[in-house]
Amino acid sequence: MEKIRTIISHYGENPQNYLGAITPPIFENSNFAFNSYEELEEFYLKKINRYIYTRESNPTIEILEEKIAKLENGESAKAFAAGVNAITSSILAFIKSGDHILAVKSLYNPTYEFLANWLNKFNIETTFFDVKDVENLDNFIKDNTKIIVLESPTSFLFEVLDLQKISNIAKKYGIITIIDNTWATPYFQNPIDFGIDIVVHSSSKYISGHSDIIGGLVISKEKFIRKIEKERELRGGNIGPFEAWLILRGLRTLPLRMETHQKNAIDVAKYLESQNKVVKVHYPALPSHPQHNLAKSQMRGFSGVFSFEIEGGEKEVRKFLNNLRLFKIAVSWGGYESLIFPGKFAFSKERKDNIRFPDNLLRISIGLEDLEDLIWDLETAFRNTYK
Ligand SMILES: *Cc1c(COP(=O)(O)O)cnc(C)c1O
Repeated sequence: MEKIRTIISHYGENPQNYLGAITPPIFENSNFAFNSYEELEEFYLKKINRYIYTRESNPTIEILEEKIAKLENGESAKAFAAGVNAITSSILAFIKSGDHILAVKSLYNPTYEFLANWLNKFNIETTFFDVKDVENLDNFIKDNTKIIVLESPTSFLFEVLDLQKISNIAKKYGIITIIDNTWATPYFQNPIDFGIDIVVHSSSKYISGHSDIIGGLVISKEKFIRKIEKERELRGGNIGPFEAWLILRGLRTLPLRMETHQKNAIDVAKYLESQNKVVKVHYPALPSHPQHNLAKSQMRGFSGVFSFEIEGGEKEVRKFLNNLRLFKIAVSWGGYESLIFPGKFAFSKERKDNIRFPDNLLRISIGLEDLEDLIWDLETAFRNTYK
C-alpha cells in the first residue's frame, strides 16, 4: 500500500479490531484496565505493550499517528494538543542551558516568540538567518549549535528554503533540523526525503481542513520521537481522542481539497497580479516569485495561502477589508473558507525592525468556494476602496 490516497483511506486501520466498524471509534476514555496483577507486572517489566493512560497513548490517536508517519515517509509520529506544542516539544527535547539555535528569520510568529523571548530565560540563544544566508550557513554555526529551525515556505512572506542544501550542512556538523511543514502538507512536500530530521505540523490548518479543531503533529525517526514523546508526556501536550478523530475525518479529503485550493489560489493570484492596485504578490506558485524554480524542485504543488501588497497603507487596507463580503477577516487558514488577515497585526512589534512586514501586506487563504464568486468579491472591494 504505497500511494497517498490509499494510505489516507486505509493505512493504520483494522476494522476487525473495532467490531468491524468501518470508521474507527472514538476511544473517549482516560484509562485502561488490566486483567490481573500479572498482566500489570508484565507491562511494567516491558514484556507486553498495551494501553494504560490516554496522556501516553490511545487507540484512536494512534491511528492518526501511524497514518501521518506513513504520509511523511517517517518512522514514527506523535499527535499534540496544538501545533505550537508540537514545535516547542520538538525543540525542548534536544536542548539544554547554554546551547545555541539557528532559525530562519521570517518564521511563524509564536515560534519566533518562543525562540527569541522565552528560551532566553534558560540561557539558550537563537540566531536568526535570512533566506539569502543559506548559501553561507556554515558561518552561523557555533560549537554549541544544536538545532536549526526551519519553515518553508515561511509565514506571511512565503520565502522558500533549499532543504537539501540545509540538511547537508546540518549533517556535516551533527546538528538536528526541524521544519514546520504546515503550509505544504504531506500532499505537496515531504522534507524527510531531503534529509530533514523532524517534521512538525499544525493540524489545525489543511490537515484537518474544517476550522473546527486545534492540534499538532511531529514525524521523525523512532529514536527522535522517543525523546519528543517524553516532552509530551511530562507536560501534558497530548491531543484529545475526539480531536484526533476529527483530524482523521478531515484528512480523508486532503488530496481533493488541496487540488482545489491550489487551482483557486493560482487563479486568484494571477487575477491579483493583473490588478493595477496590487503592488506585489508573494506566492511561490507564480513564476514571478524569486524562488519559483527551487519551490517546484522540492514541492509537488502549492497550497492556497499567500500574501499581497496593495497600493497605499493602513487607510486602504482598512477600506479594502471592510468592503469584502465573502472573505472573512480572521486569523488562521487552511479551512474550506476564504480568509484574509492584515500583516500589521500578525507580528510582535519588536520584530518589525529586523524584518520587513509592510503595513499594506495582506495574507489571504483561498477556500473551496466558486472562483467566480471570490474574484467578484475582490473586484468589488478594489472598486470601493479606490473610487
Ligand atoms: C497555525 C500555525 C502554527 C501553530 O499551530 P496551532 O495549532 O495554532 O498551535 C504553527 N506553524 C504555522 C506555520 C501555523 O500557521
